[in-house]
Amino acid sequence: MIVRSSEINGPVRESADVCIVGSGCGGGASAKVLAEAGKKVIVVEEGGYYTSKDFDATEQTAYQHLYQQRAGQATDDLAVTVLQGRCVGGSSTVNWTTSLRTPDFVLEAWRRDYGVRGLSSKELEPYFERVERYLSIHNEPVENHNPNNRLILDGAKKLGFRASAVGRNTKDCVKAGACGLGCPYDAKQSVDITYIPDAVKKGATVFANFRANKIEVTSKTKRVSGIVFDHQTQKPKTNFIIEAPVVIVAASAINSPVLLLKSNLANSSGELGKNLTFHLTSAVLGVFDEIMYGAGGIPQSAMSDEFLNKNHDGGGFWLEAVPVYPTLAALALPGFGSIHRELLHQYPHIGATIILVKETDSNGRVTVNDHGRASISYTLRDKDLGYLKQGVAVGARVQFAAGAKRVITLHARLTEFNSPDEIDHKLAASNWGMNEIGLYSAHPLGTCRMGSDPRKSIVDDHCQTHDVKGLFVIDGSVTPTSLGVNPQVTILAIAEKSAEWIAGNFTDIKAR
Ligand SMILES: Cc1cc2nc3c(=O)[nH]c(=O)nc-3n(C[C@H](O)[C@H](O)[C@H](O)COP(=O)(O)OP(=O)(O)OC[C@H]3O[C@@H](n4cnc5c(N)ncnc54)[C@H](O)[C@@H]3O)c2cc1C
Ligand code: SF4
Repeated sequence: MIVRSSEINGPVRESADVCIVGSGCGGGASAKVLAEAGKKVIVVEEGGYYTSKDFDATEQTAYQHLYQQRAGQATDDLAVTVLQGRCVGGSSTVNWTTSLRTPDFVLEAWRRDYGVRGLSSKELEPYFERVERYLSIHNEPVENHNPNNRLILDGAKKLGFRASAVGRNTKDCVKAGACGLGCPYDAKQSVDITYIPDAVKKGATVFANFRANKIEVTSKTKRVSGIVFDHQTQKPKTNFIIEAPVVIVAASAINSPVLLLKSNLANSSGELGKNLTFHLTSAVLGVFDEIMYGAGGIPQSAMSDEFLNKNHDGGGFWLEAVPVYPTLAALALPGFGSIHRELLHQYPHIGATIILVKETDSNGRVTVNDHGRASISYTLRDKDLGYLKQGVAVGARVQFAAGAKRVITLHARLTEFNSPDEIDHKLAASNWGMNEIGLYSAHPLGTCRMGSDPRKSIVDDHCQTHDVKGLFVIDGSVTPTSLGVNPQVTILAIAEKSAEWIAGNFTDIKAR
C-alpha cells in the first residue's frame, strides 16, 4: 500500500520488522528484497507520490514536485548545484537512465584501501545481472541516439577516443526526452514503477510526505520519528513514530548523514558526513548549423570513457550528453543581458557535452544547519582541477570534431572558441576558482562510507553501522570513493546484496 498524506488524519503509530527511510535506489531495492523475504516493511518518504499521470514533461512541474529544493539545492557557497530527487522513487524518478556497472578498478580500490570484502566484481556479478534483467537494461541501437549523443560518438571517433552506447533501464521507450522530468510513458524502469510496486505487492507500506527527523535506539527496539507534511501546502500536518528492530537509512548521500547526525548515532569515527564526492560536472556547449534537439529524443545514451583512469591513478573524467531543457540551459549559459540573449537565440542549435570528474583529491562534507537541514561544502583540489581543465578542453575538441562552429564553456566570464586552435590558450587564461565556472553534481556519494576499520568508516560491508547493530545505511552514501560512472546500478546491486544479508540474518540481528 502506498499512503499519501492526504489519507492521514492524525498521528501515526506503527511497528514493523524493518523501517526504511527513503524510497530511492537504496531504499526501494531494500524494501523489495525484504518484503519478498516475508518481513513487514514500512518505508517513509519525505517527497510525494506521483505517477506517470502527473508527469507532464515540463520543468515547472518536475522541479517543483520531484526535486530536492525545487532543483535549487547547492553547496553553501553556491558554487555547485546538487541535483537530487525528492519523491517516491527518489532520484531514480528523475534520472537519465544511464545504467552502468561499477568499474573493476574502483571495486579493487575499495578492497585494497578500505578493506571492503564481498564486493569484488566477481562477487557482485550475480547482483549486477539481477538488476540488469529486472530493469531491462540494454544498449540503444545506433539509430536511436539523438544528435546530442551522436556528437560524442562521432567526435570521439574522429579524434581516436573510445566512445560507446551506455546501458539504459527502459522498456518501450518512445524517445520523449523527459527522463529528467518523470517519464510520462512508464518506459523508464525507475524505482517508483519497479521495486516499490513489487515491495508493495508483498505487503510493504510506503508513507509519502513523511520526513524522518530522528532515530532513537532503546534496548528493545529502534524508533523513527518525524513529521507528516500536507501534500499540497507542504506544511506540517501531524507526526509519526515507527518502531522496528531494524532501521535502514536510505535518504541519500546528502540526507542520510543529516538524519544520523541529528540522531547522534553512528559517528564514533567522526567521519559521518565527510568524504562527500560529487562526480563533479561541468559542460561545453557547441553551436551547430543543424538543429541538435538537445531536449528531444533519448537524453543520455552515449559516453566516452577514454580518459577515465587513463593514468592508472584512480582519477580522470568521462564525457556524456545532457538533456538541454530550456530552464536548465538558461541557468547554465554564461553572461547576462545581450550576451545571454544571443546565446539563448541559438538554443535549438546547441549540443551539450558534460565532463564528469572522478575525484581523487577533492571532497566535501555534509553537516546540519540551524534549520536541521543539510549544509554542504566542497573543496576542489589541484589534481581533480587538472582533470576538469583537461576534460573541458577534450569536450570542446570533441564538439569541433563533430561539426560545432563555436564552443562555449560555463565560465562566468564568457569563454568561447571559434576553432580548436583557440582552446588551450583561452582556457589557460580563464579563471577556474569556485563560482567562476558552472559546476554541478547529480551523483553525490560517500558521506557514510563503507570500510572494515570502524575508526575510519561508518558501515561495514553489509552496510550495517559499526556503532549500532540493526542500524543500516543503504544508499549512495556508503561508497568509499567516487565511482567514475553513473551510480544507480552500483547502489541497486549493493542494496540487493545487503538486504539479502539482512533477511538471511534477521533473527541474529534482531536479537543483539
Ligand atoms: C537529474 C539526475 C539525473 C541522474 N541520472 C543518472 C543516470 O542516468 N544514471 C545513474 O546511474 N544515476 C543517475 N543519477 C543518480 C542516481 O539517480 C542516484 O545516484 C541514486 O538514485 C541515489 O540513490 P539513493 O538511494 O542514494 O538516493 P535517492 O534515490 O536520492 O533517494 C533518497 C530518498 O530519500 C528521501 N529522503 C531524504 N531525506 C529523508 C528523510 N529525512 N525522511 C524521509 N525520506 C527522506 C528523498 O526524498 C529521496 O526520495 C541522476 C540523478 C539526478 C538527480
Ligand atoms: S526518453 Fe524514454 S524513458 Fe525517457 S522520458 Fe521519454 S519515453 Fe520515458
